[in-house]
Amino acid sequence: MDIREGKRQDLTPWGEVLSEVEAEVRPRLGEAGAVATYIPALARVPARQFGIALATCDGVEAGAGDADLPFSIQSISKVFTLALAMRALGSRLWERIGREPSGNPFNSLVQLETEKGVPRNPFINAGAIAVADRLVSAFADPKAEILALMSGLCGEPIAFDEEVARSEADTGYRNVALANFMKGFGKLDNDVATVLDVYFHQCALRMSCRQLARAAGFLCRDGRHPRGQDALLSERQARRINALMLTCGTYDAAGEFAFSIGLPCKSGVGGGIIAVVPDRLSLCVWSPALDATGNSLLGRAALEAFAAKTGLSVF
Ligand code: GLN
Repeated sequence: MDIREGKRQDLTPWGEVLSEVEAEVRPRLGEAGAVATYIPALARVPARQFGIALATCDGVEAGAGDADLPFSIQSISKVFTLALAMRALGSRLWERIGREPSGNPFNSLVQLETEKGVPRNPFINAGAIAVADRLVSAFADPKAEILALMSGLCGEPIAFDEEVARSEADTGYRNVALANFMKGFGKLDNDVATVLDVYFHQCALRMSCRQLARAAGFLCRDGRHPRGQDALLSERQARRINALMLTCGTYDAAGEFAFSIGLPCKSGVGGGIIAVVPDRLSLCVWSPALDATGNSLLGRAALEAFAAKTGLSVF
């Protein structure tokens, strides 16, 4: 480790790769894109920040830039709540949720009407709300269950940002509409407010790139816990989450992500994106300015640079 401009620089081989990626994209900070503005806590995040971290399957970690700065993980949480629900319900989960890309924005209502309250996939908002409903049925305290999962995966305490959770609830009109719509079709078992409280809290988890890269480790280890040999999910379940991330994890940009990056990815409007190289490593990039599809602009550029430099891809 070395000190450069007040930041620790990672001089391991993976650290060097990440520093090269950072050097490539950092000059573009502030060039384009815009931070999410639907809640004050996200609107005030300075756009000119960039972090990247990875964790290999054999336990090596590396980071560059703002890799240790916590941010609002938002829709990245959908991967972890899906894992909890798959573990609790097995294939019964799919009775109420599809597995097809939506080709629509993440908060779209249109398909839900024609498809009778069954969301296209677990990564659009409607799908994640349906997953939250299953968690409310399965666990006495689903929010505590989510925190225990995230803290266990990271090996350090993870918390909700209560200000973000409150703002999500205060401004979540479309999510309220999606939940009521599904309830109207008889597709939610629990009270809408209780289900949304879980959904708004999962969006409000605060984590750093380093923590998220580590937490996603079960996806490159065939479902095994990143710290130990216990199975969080079966190999088949972990593969299925990766398949869903590739096809649906970045909404209506999923085709472009597969084309230019070629890794299962999941993004959030806080500017984070996690990516998985099965059997090798998991990584996370973060830069708050988003493109029109709600994906981090420089996060995407960084993943493209990483894939190009390393040749790593699932194809
Ligand atoms: N909290 C956001 C919402 O529900 C999450 C969306 C996202 O990250 N894509 O709209």
